Amino acid sequence: MSGPVLVFSRPFRAPDQERYISEVLASGHVHGDGPFTTAASELLQAITEAPRALLTTSCTHALELAGVLLDLGPGDEVIVPSFTFSSTAAAIAIRGATPVFVDIDPRTLCLDVDLAAAAVTERTRALYTVHYGGVGHRLDELTALCDRHGLVLVEDNAHGLGARWRGRSLGTFGALATQSFHDTKNVHCGEGGALLINDVQRFAERAEIIREKGTNRGMFLRGQVDKYTWVDAGSSYLPSDLLAALLLAQLESFEQIQAGRMAVWERYARDLTDWARQTGASLMQVPDDVEHPAHVFYLLMPDHAGQVGLLGHLKERGVIGTFHYQPLDSSPAGQRLGRTPVPCSVTADVASRLVRLPLWPDLTEPDLDRIVAAVTSYPGASASYPGASAS
Ligand SMILES: *Cc1c(COP(=O)(O)O)cnc(C)c1O
Repeated sequence: MSGPVLVFSRPFRAPDQERYISEVLASGHVHGDGPFTTAASELLQAITEAPRALLTTSCTHALELAGVLLDLGPGDEVIVPSFTFSSTAAAIAIRGATPVFVDIDPRTLCLDVDLAAAAVTERTRALYTVHYGGVGHRLDELTALCDRHGLVLVEDNAHGLGARWRGRSLGTFGALATQSFHDTKNVHCGEGGALLINDVQRFAERAEIIREKGTNRGMFLRGQVDKYTWVDAGSSYLPSDLLAALLLAQLESFEQIQAGRMAVWERYARDLTDWARQTGASLMQVPDDVEHPAHVFYLLMPDHAGQVGLLGHLKERGVIGTFHYQPLDSSPAGQRLGRTPVPCSVTADVASRLVRLPLWPDLTEPDLDRIVAAVTSYPGASASYPGASAS
């Protein structure tokens, strides 16, 4: 196979992004909450159908903002999946609260609702769920569980922008939800994020204050108070309007980005089916009631040697695949700062076998021919492969 290395992820370049950034620099309003922040937030609200969106400097910061908003503190417990990025749990631990790790469902790799129900104690305050690959899972039962126990549902929707479960947008099920605009996500501004607020009555006013260093500056700018002052806990979670300009250009290209990613996803799903059957690999499955956002395409190899073997085989052919999250329950910080009522065996198993393929909208047909050929020339985990070791 010849040609340049096909990287795992490449940030999309939106047609208007340089022009918008130049406009910000020329305008003299480079700090946060300028006109581009307003426009990007409104478009984000339209895409997600959430009533309120506050741009933040990252998804991690949006999760931290949620932790301040919920007054999480020592003694409080929050249920999280073990199979997620460290931020979901770190944003709980930084408040001194305890992330309680729960295993995932093997079909969707999302939080196992029955195990989550069993993990509720009198200390549980909230449940932070993750829609892995933007695939919603049993969200009616999850919201019912939270309602039953008075838990606040927070969706870490870093993967799920524009996705739906039974016709309803991900990011609108919880009282709060978070988005990531890191440049490995479908829509990016380098580093960025947002807090979606669905329970506006309960959370909107205070969220705005916490995001603005604990001040009521937002009310001042709207003429609701005649000077602004320190009124609550808070930090600086708002991005510069430069980043909002980049984000707006990206969001305006959302349909194009999604169409490009979906074409790649569908090509893999179609052209790898026979190979998967022969080798015992299983391809990412999407339930009928889900509209997913083509954020990841993954396959599960039969065993860990297959994961290492396939990744090495692809790399030799100039194709960069990758594994994904390592279990948080057994991570050094997870063991020290978290609690795991039941060992997360599905998470450990999936982490050892999962392979993600390159997925970005500008992959060409010849690129995809190369990737498909690279995967389908892999003989399977049972064949010994140089470099395959259980590391
Ligand atoms: C990417 C990601 C994050 C972190 O996003 P940042 O914007 O980089 O802070 C958090 N949770 C999940 C599930 C992610 O995929």
